[in-house]
Amino acid sequence: MAEVIDGKSVAEDVVRSVKALTAELVVKGKAKPGLAVVIVGEDPASQVYVASKSRTAKECGFHSLQHTLPAETSEAALLKLIAELNADPAINGILVQLPLPAHVDAGKIIQAIAPQKDVDGFHFINVGKLGTGELDTAFVPCTPAGSMLLIERVRGKDLSGLNAVVVGRSNIVGKPMASLLLAANCTVTIAHSRTKDLPELARTADILVAAVGRPEMIRGDWVKPGATVIDVGINRIPAPEKGEGKSRLVGDVAYAEAAKAAGAITPVPGGVGPMTIAMLMANTLASAYLAAGLKRPS
Ligand code: NDP
Repeated sequence: MAEVIDGKSVAEDVVRSVKALTAELVVKGKAKPGLAVVIVGEDPASQVYVASKSRTAKECGFHSLQHTLPAETSEAALLKLIAELNADPAINGILVQLPLPAHVDAGKIIQAIAPQKDVDGFHFINVGKLGTGELDTAFVPCTPAGSMLLIERVRGKDLSGLNAVVVGRSNIVGKPMASLLLAANCTVTIAHSRTKDLPELARTADILVAAVGRPEMIRGDWVKPGATVIDVGINRIPAPEKGEGKSRLVGDVAYAEAAKAAGAITPVPGGVGPMTIAMLMANTLASAYLAAGLKRPS
C-alpha cells in the first residue's frame, strides 16, 4: 500500500515556518507582512475560503485586511481599491477571491494588481517569470507550488529525469504545475480532454498529477507501480450512505484503487487542499522580505 502524503501536516510546517520568519522580520525592525483579501458578493464557498485565509494570516502574525464588497460593486470601484492597495506600503499581498460577479472583467482586475503583490501568481509578469524559469522572483500559483512541496517531501529535491504527467491544463493548476516540474528537470507531458489514450499515457508517469475536476476519473490500473500520485481535484458527490441529502468530497483519482499501485498518494481531503492557503502565506512572506530589501526565504 502507498505512503499517504499528509498535506495537513506539511501545511502546518509551512505555516509554522512563516510565523517564525515573520517574527524575525519584526525583530529586524521591519514591518510585518500585510495581506489584503478582497471578496465581492456572497458566494458561500468563497466566504469560507476567505475567512480561512484571513484566519491563517492572523495566525502567522501578519497584518491582515479583508475588504468585503457587495455583489453590485462596479469594476471601476474595484480597480480603484486595487490601485489603493498597490500604493499601500503596509500591504505586501493582494488576493482577489474568484469567481467575481459576471459584470466584472476578472482578467482586468487580476492584471491591475502590482506584480510584486500578486501572491496568487496570476499576473502575466509572474506567469512569464515561471515560464522562463525566473523562480527567484516569481510568485507561483499556490496550489501547484504546494503540490510541488508535497512531491519533494516524498521524492527529495532531485527529480531529474523522472517522467511526469499532469492531467489538466488550466492556468491556475495544470500549466504552472507542468512548468514547475519542467524546471525541476522532469520530462513533462500535459494531458487534457483531447488527449488520446490517457490511461496508457498515465501509466508512464513516475509522478502523476490529476487536476481535472472529474470525480475518481483516474483509475487504479492507470497508475504505474511505485508512482507518486498528487490528486488536486476536489469534487463533492452524493453520499446517500451518510443519510438523505448528504455528500462527501472525493478527488480526481479513485483513491482506494490507486493506493494499491502508487508508492505515495495524497488523500482528498487532507492532501493538496491544506497546502494552498499555506503557500499563500509563504508567498506573502516572500513579498514582504523582498519589499524590505532582504533575500527571499527559501
Ligand atoms: P479546470 O476546469 O479549469 O480545468 C480542468 C482541466 O481538466 C482542463 O484542462 C480539461 O481539459 C481537463 N479535462 C477535463 N475533462 C477531462 C478528461 N475527461 N480527460 C482529460 N482531461 C480532462 O479546473 P482547475 O484546474 O481549476 O481545477 C481542477 C480540479 O482541481 C478541480 O476539481 C478543482 O476543484 C480542484 N482545485 C483544487 C484546489 C486545491 O486547493 N486543492 C485549487 C484549485 C483547483 P481541456 O482544457 O481540454 O478542457
